[in-house]
Amino acid sequence: MPSDCLFCRIIAGELPSSLVHSDDSIFAIRDISPQAPTHILILSRKHVASVSDLSGADEAIVGKLFAAAAEIAKREGIAKGGYRLVVNTGRDAGQTVDHLHVHMLGGRHMSWPPG
Ligand code: 5GP
Ligand code: ZN
Repeated sequence: MPSDCLFCRIIAGELPSSLVHSDDSIFAIRDISPQAPTHILILSRKHVASVSDLSGADEAIVGKLFAAAAEIAKREGIAKGGYRLVVNTGRDAGQTVDHLHVHMLGGRHMSWPPG
């Protein structure tokens, strides 16, 4: 675990967070700066810097991120109304924390295309 990674430190319990879901592979928390009524970050427990750093061995992690998203959306009551999953990858996309995570945004209407 990179000791300078914010999300690794949160997963390790070194920094506080608002926990939504935790299992062997996934850790989900509420975003500290929510951009929608529901804004959850679904993190892989394994440190992978971004989608660009995934290898074939990480296939299962990607599946588990999305399976967790489906389950969390139901629990949060946004599955029916709809929600958006976003994976910012690299600087142009606005990635600020280099640890693989899926944003789950819901609870309001969202426009397309994103800014
Ligand atoms: P990115 O910009 O990399 O796609 O997303 C990083 C997200 O992490 C941002 O939405 C930001 O608000 C959130 N964030 C940054 N620092 C913290 C923190 O200490 N705790 C939590 N829960 N979220 C954070
Ligand atoms: Zn990390």
